[in-house]
Amino acid sequence: CAVVGIFDHPEASKLAYFSLHALQHRGQEAAGISTGDGEKLYTIKDRGLVTQVFDTQKLNTLKGHMAIGHTRYSTAGDDSILDAQPVFARYDLGEMSIVHNGNLTNAKEVRDALIKKGAIFQTYMDTENLIHLIAKSDQHHLTDRIIDAVKKIEGAYSLVFLSRTKMFAMRDPHGFRPLSLGRVGDGYVVASETCAFDLIGAEYIRDVEPGELLIFEKGKAPKSIKVFEPTPKHCIFEYVYFARPDSNVYNQNVYEMRKAMGKALAQEQPIEADMVVPVPDGGVPAAIGYSQQSGIPFEMAIMRNHYIGRTFIEPTQEMRDLKVKMKLSPINDLIRGKRLIVIDDSIVRGTTSRQIVRMLKAAGASEVHMRISSPPTTDPCYYGVDTPDKEKLIAANMTNEEICAFIEADSLGYLSNEALLASVNGKEENYCTACFTGKYII
Ligand code: 5GP
Ligand code: SF4
Repeated sequence: CAVVGIFDHPEASKLAYFSLHALQHRGQEAAGISTGDGEKLYTIKDRGLVTQVFDTQKLNTLKGHMAIGHTRYSTAGDDSILDAQPVFARYDLGEMSIVHNGNLTNAKEVRDALIKKGAIFQTYMDTENLIHLIAKSDQHHLTDRIIDAVKKIEGAYSLVFLSRTKMFAMRDPHGFRPLSLGRVGDGYVVASETCAFDLIGAEYIRDVEPGELLIFEKGKAPKSIKVFEPTPKHCIFEYVYFARPDSNVYNQNVYEMRKAMGKALAQEQPIEADMVVPVPDGGVPAAIGYSQQSGIPFEMAIMRNHYIGRTFIEPTQEMRDLKVKMKLSPINDLIRGKRLIVIDDSIVRGTTSRQIVRMLKAAGASEVHMRISSPPTTDPCYYGVDTPDKEKLIAANMTNEEICAFIEADSLGYLSNEALLASVNGKEENYCTACFTGKYII
């Protein structure tokens, strides 16, 4: 998911809209914005893409100088409209609205305890826990209640809240999911990725620190409270796949990181071939790196039809199979009789890779060598990325040779976890790599 917050800007709803548009890749199922004018909060949310949910007239009804927004990619909960965010609530201190990127790992325990005490839930979203915890806290001020509430939850959360007059931003102590702070006009912006800042002309200030709560109040500089000691465990998959290449995530440019992964992949998994071909769009920067390192020419031999959502999002296997063909097509004349190194960022179920290999062989490729710019995905994510259950992860159930046979490739090579960490200038202790290593933090 993506989250965004705009504080103290006359066009808050529009800036939130444009920010969400830049962050659309983080979730395509639903979109929503809440705004506040100091008196009241206004919310519009629905299923669909940002451009489908909002138009000028709707944005004009979202009044006020502050706004928060969300694009949804279902992780916890289902994809009903009830599960779209922001989550709005009225409680004893007035109104509040919350957006959340991440996944709470103790959501069930917290929810069961709340239900025992009489709480009623409207959705399956773990985010609703927070509303209840804040509403039930016996602290008098919202800031203290937020601190009280986040001390009861565990897991991954980059959160933005609106109250009637203030905006709050909070990142979990591990900083699993990104969250950056910027300046826009005379106001402020927080967003999952800095590509949102570039679109709205905001200036990057810094990342919200893991464990930090930021409070935005009119006429004041943002106030920072260190709620937890930071113990960074940034999601390395943001660099591999999730974030947009033009974003800086955890202070480094995503495109550069992916290119470095491609270079490292060429060193670890060399093979003789005629061309390096990316699976667009995700594989492009790594394929450029692989090509530069190996000296084998880079060719965009697979075209992507952009007028279609991401295949991963579709619920059934049949739809996924069809969508791969609708989305990717080979340049036959370029490929015929050639040995290809095909670069993708990850193999999840293996069905995409198999379709691509079949498609390239049908186009006349003499050899297809798959190279993956991350380690085998062996374990599900519990911190906000929607990887399927372990049974469906091909690398959890097959050896590399078996996967290679399944995807019908002539060879298969992955990047090692050590090389992945080195590519992002990272130390193991500062990153979460659980979906590649099974080393869960919580
Ligand atoms: P597979 O068919 O192996 O399940 O799909 C792998 C493809 O999905 C790769 O091309 C990869 O770029 C993409 N992919 C990997 N992880 C994710 C994810 O978390 N979400 C989405 N939407 N796509 C993913
Ligand atoms: Fe990121 Fe993987 Fe860790 Fe999930 S398990 S937070 S996707 S590195």
